[in-house]
Amino acid sequence: MRFRSALWSLVLALGLIAAGSAAARCAASQPGAGAAPTPFHPKILEPARAPKTARILRQVALSYKPHMSARARDIDFLQKVALAKRLVGVRRLVELRRQTLALLPLDQEVSWEYLRRRHFANGEPVGVTLQVPVWVPAGAKRIQTYCGFDKKWQTVAETTPRPSGYVWFVRTMHQVNDQAKYQAKTIQVEVNSKFAPFAALLVEYIFREGWYDPAKRVPLMSLRMGEDTYAASAATPPVTVQCLSFPKDDGDSFDPTVDYCHYQNLAEIYHGRHAVASNHRLGLAIDFNDSNYRGVVDGAPNAISRDLRQYNRKAMHKLDARNLPAWVYRVAKWEGCRLPQEWCYTGYCTDWEHIDVGTK
Ligand SMILES: [Zn+2]
Repeated sequence: MRFRSALWSLVLALGLIAAGSAAARCAASQPGAGAAPTPFHPKILEPARAPKTARILRQVALSYKPHMSARARDIDFLQKVALAKRLVGVRRLVELRRQTLALLPLDQEVSWEYLRRRHFANGEPVGVTLQVPVWVPAGAKRIQTYCGFDKKWQTVAETTPRPSGYVWFVRTMHQVNDQAKYQAKTIQVEVNSKFAPFAALLVEYIFREGWYDPAKRVPLMSLRMGEDTYAASAATPPVTVQCLSFPKDDGDSFDPTVDYCHYQNLAEIYHGRHAVASNHRLGLAIDFNDSNYRGVVDGAPNAISRDLRQYNRKAMHKLDARNLPAWVYRVAKWEGCRLPQEWCYTGYCTDWEHIDVGTK
């Protein structure tokens, strides 16, 4: 009988240990209803092609310790940024611009299609594909995007030269703003291998805030980094989507109308061609939630605007959650990125979706 009770004690103890570790696992992966069971850390596809970059990404992955306070999360982020700078070997991010431009022959137009195939002195390719965790609205559809070195995005949309990641698409403003139903997904995007750790840190910070605090979930449905000209395929079907539109493009009104906009295909919404001087051609910039809803005035999500209302990030984020809240810009600045407010796009406009390594 004594043996039996000893056995029972052992079974009970093992059961308690199992229950305890299950509870610990739960605490580590729990925060927020609807969160994925374990967080996805940024990584690059084909790590064997860029092993040093892959290793740095693993080293600077953000922590997901149980019950991390906002302050603990910020300290973790700042320490990882400092580590990333040490591992990449830069003090300021703009040094990456000089290092990348140095790979270009004098007579060659600055082009991502050219640079992405070159290698840095450390043997790493300039172009890598980054996969990062993001929050996306329920029902979002995954849309492939394509890249090329063409004068017109329409050519890319029609010929789809090569895939360059994907974006997430929804039709209604209710879906965009229905924060309680956001889901943890990932996005793939091409980027400069030396900038990859910094892009990854920023996007993972945004994702992690939403992991610990569901009220801070920001949907990232499109990330554009390294490219000359890109578009979704013109072979996608016609769509009708809800868009916000404001009465004036130079006003400060926060009272938009909801318009129903019709597009022949998704390439009309997802496309772009970057100027020769753009840091996108070096893979050293990030566009958050880039899109082109033709026909709306200062519409949603806003990209390039001369509008005063855009400076009220809180109000814009509330109207359309794809507009970045102010804290995202603050964190980008902590990394040393150049913010939209620090330079002028053509015509006194501010490119609110764009952050980069700067030019000087
Ligand atoms: Zn941009």
